[in-house]
Amino acid sequence: MNVEDFERHWIGRIVCDLESRDDEKIVFSTAKTPSGPIHVGVGRELIYCSVFEKLLRERGRKTEFLFFVDDFDSLKSFPPNIPKDFSSHKEFLGRPMYMVPCPYNHCESWGTHYAQELIETFPDFGLHPKIIWSHELYQTQEMKNLIRLALDRVGDLRKIMVEVVGPTLQQNQLEKFKKEMENWYPCLVVCENCGRLKPTRVLGWDSSTDTLIYDCTACNYKGEVKVKDWPVKLRWRIDWPAKWAIFKVSCEPAGKDHCVKGGAYDTGEQIVSRVFGWKGPYRIPYEWVLLGEKAMKTHKGISFTFSEWLAVAPPEVYRYLILREEPRKHISFAPERMLQLIDEFEKTEKIYFGLEKASNRLEELTAKIVYPLSMPDKVPEEVPARLPYRFAIIMVQLIPLLGKDKVLEKCLTILKRLYKKERLKPEEVLAVEERLRMAEYWVTNYAPEELKIRITETVSKEIKEKLSEKQREALKIVLEKFKEKDWDEESLQFEIFEVGKKLGIGPKIFEAFYLIFLGKKFGPRLAPFLLSLEKEFVIQRLEEVVG
Ligand SMILES: [Zn+2]
Ligand SMILES: [Zn+2]
Repeated sequence: MNVEDFERHWIGRIVCDLESRDDEKIVFSTAKTPSGPIHVGVGRELIYCSVFEKLLRERGRKTEFLFFVDDFDSLKSFPPNIPKDFSSHKEFLGRPMYMVPCPYNHCESWGTHYAQELIETFPDFGLHPKIIWSHELYQTQEMKNLIRLALDRVGDLRKIMVEVVGPTLQQNQLEKFKKEMENWYPCLVVCENCGRLKPTRVLGWDSSTDTLIYDCTACNYKGEVKVKDWPVKLRWRIDWPAKWAIFKVSCEPAGKDHCVKGGAYDTGEQIVSRVFGWKGPYRIPYEWVLLGEKAMKTHKGISFTFSEWLAVAPPEVYRYLILREEPRKHISFAPERMLQLIDEFEKTEKIYFGLEKASNRLEELTAKIVYPLSMPDKVPEEVPARLPYRFAIIMVQLIPLLGKDKVLEKCLTILKRLYKKERLKPEEVLAVEERLRMAEYWVTNYAPEELKIRITETVSKEIKEKLSEKQREALKIVLEKFKEKDWDEESLQFEIFEVGKKLGIGPKIFEAFYLIFLGKKFGPRLAPFLLSLEKEFVIQRLEEVVG
């Protein structure tokens, strides 16, 4: 890869910026609050960290990749689809997530449950971070000392908050904010009476006795605790820079909401350098991953999880989806468009291996730079033989007609033909089986109507009557041509198109085929569909109509 090309690409530019840092170790960090099923939107920062960590390591730097599970955050609401007898426990709301039970009563806590669900998918996606559970971090002396430091320097923190957040507020809001800041403290205390973290308020701090005075506006309890032996949590805007300082974080990507002027990244940078004594990380602000048109929000149940991804598509396609776009551009992902995405990825893969030509400069760079980084662990030595997804989704729908074995056999034949192979390796056969499983799941859960196939047992009288003279004539011509030889997809598709054109019925010829095979006017791309059926069956069906 040409150095100039690389440095002009956004990935190369960030690598250069990071390389210029004089940190002894380049530490990447990212975090997630396990407030419910964790959706693939959060993966943007995970993939960035894993990619830059790898690239910096390859350039001889010492590196580390951290993933914080923010399970000390309080649970704000129950996402939809939580068991009813569980979500009736309103007293759990406001508690730290590591102190809320698992909603399915099968592991330690709410926090563990949803974090673990995500973490279990990490190896598949090529993510190998060191996992840090916030509630454990908060028990360390280092963190307790930072809490004390933040409390001792509450005056400076209040000043920074007003200085950074102030300019983004309207005059009347500003007055209110300044007033609030007069009694503001950088931490929250778990209420000794009701177990809630929110909404507690710290009322005073005595450093000589390590004591915090607080009250809880939920249960009206008022009490005193010592930092050394009670769970105390820094507020989010202070918690973030505290972690940067403890781990000397060099880079943390963040969603655009945290990166706005006066946002948590801005206050964090001031706090970490002026109070906690670390220069702070390099920012990579990024846009949302949209599910269709909507932003993914765990608490609203707009979600598509990592394990759901693995059920329908390979992890490298996800990494590709994230990496082919610059961080400042939003990514729109819709499970029903998975087919197109996989096609694009496989085209890029073929360009990388020199089997297809890039049609423009961008495609070429994406193949050279993004493709190898999309592979979770290592880049294969030769192009992997992949059964086209488009074909797999037709084939799995033919299982009721042909049986599982026949379908697999047909898929293997197609794969051998596509990749010009005499025989397939065992792992290639396994890959076909896996693709069929994914396609089956996708068809059941996400396929749009036009890709659903159910072959009718016979052609009904109504359908026979529906066909025009020209359509019948067209079917007859195609039938004769179809019998002549073994067709491949492209030439058959072209031939059918030509027949339609010659008879002046255009796309109505395709409609005729869909009607007699599927009983509806539309269906998957015709030639691959016909070729995936038994030749005899196709002939028989056509003869039934025009014979
Ligand atoms: Zn659990
Ligand atoms: Zn309370």
